[in-house]
Amino acid sequence: MLLSPIEYLKGVGPLRGDMLKKELNIFTFKDLLEHFPLRHLDRTKVDKIGHLNPHADYAQITGKLMQMDIVGEKRAKRLVAYLQDDTGEMELTWFQGINWVQKALVVGEKYLVFGKLSSFMGKLQLTHPEFEIYTAEKASGKKFLEPIYPSTEKLKVRGLNGRAIAKLTYALLQQLSEKNFPENMPEALITQYRFIKRWDAYCNIHFPATDGLYKHAVRRLKFEELFFAQIRLGLIRSTRHRFSKGWVFDKVGDLFNNFYSNQLPFSLTNAQKRVLKEIRKDAGSGKQMNRLLQGDVGSGKTIVALLSMLIAADNGFQSVLMAPTEILAQQHFNGITEVLGDMNVGVRLLTGSTKTKERKEILAKCEDGSVHILIGTHAVIEEKVQFKNLGFAVIDEQHKFGVAQRAKLWKKNSLPPHILVMTATPIPRTLALTAYGDLDYSVIDELPPGRQPINTLHRYENKRHQVMDFIKAEIAKGRQAYIVYPLIEESSKMDYENLMKGFEEVKSFFPEPKYWISMVHGKQPAEQKETNMQRFIKGDTQIMVSTTVIEVGVNVPNASVMVIESAEKFGLSQLHQLRGRVGRGAEKSFCILLTGGKLSQDATERIRILCATNDGFAVAEKDLEIRGPGDIEGTRQSGDLNFKIANIVQDKVILEAAKEAATAIVENDPDCTMAENLPVKEYLERQKGKTMWSKIS
Ligand code: ADP
Ligand code: MG
Repeated sequence: MLLSPIEYLKGVGPLRGDMLKKELNIFTFKDLLEHFPLRHLDRTKVDKIGHLNPHADYAQITGKLMQMDIVGEKRAKRLVAYLQDDTGEMELTWFQGINWVQKALVVGEKYLVFGKLSSFMGKLQLTHPEFEIYTAEKASGKKFLEPIYPSTEKLKVRGLNGRAIAKLTYALLQQLSEKNFPENMPEALITQYRFIKRWDAYCNIHFPATDGLYKHAVRRLKFEELFFAQIRLGLIRSTRHRFSKGWVFDKVGDLFNNFYSNQLPFSLTNAQKRVLKEIRKDAGSGKQMNRLLQGDVGSGKTIVALLSMLIAADNGFQSVLMAPTEILAQQHFNGITEVLGDMNVGVRLLTGSTKTKERKEILAKCEDGSVHILIGTHAVIEEKVQFKNLGFAVIDEQHKFGVAQRAKLWKKNSLPPHILVMTATPIPRTLALTAYGDLDYSVIDELPPGRQPINTLHRYENKRHQVMDFIKAEIAKGRQAYIVYPLIEESSKMDYENLMKGFEEVKSFFPEPKYWISMVHGKQPAEQKETNMQRFIKGDTQIMVSTTVIEVGVNVPNASVMVIESAEKFGLSQLHQLRGRVGRGAEKSFCILLTGGKLSQDATERIRILCATNDGFAVAEKDLEIRGPGDIEGTRQSGDLNFKIANIVQDKVILEAAKEAATAIVENDPDCTMAENLPVKEYLERQKGKTMWSKIS
């Protein structure tokens, strides 16, 4: 019944059915019931004119229509009528549809009137109120709060405005009953949270008798939605844990041990050690690992990845490390070959700009197994790249890779490699639970010792001279500086011109030969980029002018100033990423946000947050609040976050509770065969297209 096509509902038919499908994605009866009202109007009470609360938004009154006049001329023309009850008189005003209203209303008749309450010259009035002839049964108002539904212009033209949708929904609920809504959660959970019945929830979310009942309905439906999302993700995780075979790394060998005792330039933080243990446990379990590694900028994710890849090599497996840009891949390569020193590990770099001859050689060595660690851009997952025995894959800065790209890794060996996904941008916990709930989760929540917090400052563009002088002072102390320009679109000509103009300007502040400047942007050939990077890394240039190509991962510990031009054009997490390029050494570092004088409210807020905190997770939380879940970098398909009623920002508490309940079930009874979990299983099976045992991605 609930899955019947919407056109079969009385009053819909094929034409309106098509419109509902196209405009609102309403395909079935159930979809209509899940088209939830935006809000409700309370017409359950009838007020006395003399006792109205002047601050209320709406008012419903009854009374006798005393008088009706058109006042004003032409554009200022309006219809004014007066309604009187035994406590006073109220002015009703119309600016539009005057003729029609004038014909419809009869002086001397009694009406029930409902409308927006406003005050004009200190007097209360109702503008454009709805009215109907008063009858005795209307004396106490409507039985239900009146739902207001979202609709679209096209639907309104077809007579399907919010009110018509309310009528359809009401009619549909009349045809249904409790038996159409069998319970889908375990009884203990219902009791624990005192949820109302599903049927009651559907009735009351649309046509509640009181606001209290509406809130109960919302709470139950939000929980239910988040609970089942978590159950599905949990089942994917659990299915993988139970059934997906993985390579076994059962030993820690010479490579790891030698590196750890002779090469590692620092001791690991406790958080790094813990994460490494988690990875080792997974990789030794015989099941395939799929783990998300989160950590703020500079928390030291790379070394964890390297140590894991050495364990893979100790067990006879090859690894790949994929980065989203050539610069980053190159930098990983340089950093890793440097810390490995003269250890006997085959490390190669493969990117789009690797020359044919070298490429051939690398491909051959991947196939014969002499490359242990292949670092690169997505060039490493191309079909031509074949491995002797791939066992481990690290994906750095995950959000730049699509699911389809990751899936290519699956085919590189007879079993899929263990996967470690590392995010550059910290993701708020609530979002991670939802968007990455199918992955296991590790977090490095501790920065390496000795880091000084970055001092973040906001300056208007007219203070650019002072900012440049400040850079000069830092350079005099032997430090280096970044100056970053926004490049919203890689191809945008204007942004590019801005960068060039900026470069010339910086040059005039910092003339050669006293100063040397590197410039890096997306349009340069890889070699030129690399030369410029290297000069900056070596300290041959003191200033790096660039676009956001340096956003992720670049590591020059001697740089102590980050100036971000037009900072108002960047998003929060991007600003945090950019800021993370400094503060990597022991020196006090600064991030200066340059902006124009006129800032939108959002931009002001972003800049305020950034100046207030260095904590990437706090920044990410705020970002989520400001932008909403759909837009956040670091999320995968936004569809993962398309909830009908729940909102992971506002409903954090419900999400945590739902997650806890779902995890308990998935862990204790993953097949949902225990009697109390049968409602869950049956519900999942009824859900079309969302089968319980879906294949792991
Ligand atoms: P991210 O997590 O942003 O990728 P990186 O892996 O690039 O961070 O590490 C940032 C810097 O911190 C690097 O220079 C790295 O060598 C250094 N580092 C990592 N771990 C430690 C540690 N335990 N102690 C000191 N320095 C560390
Ligand atoms: Mg990194």
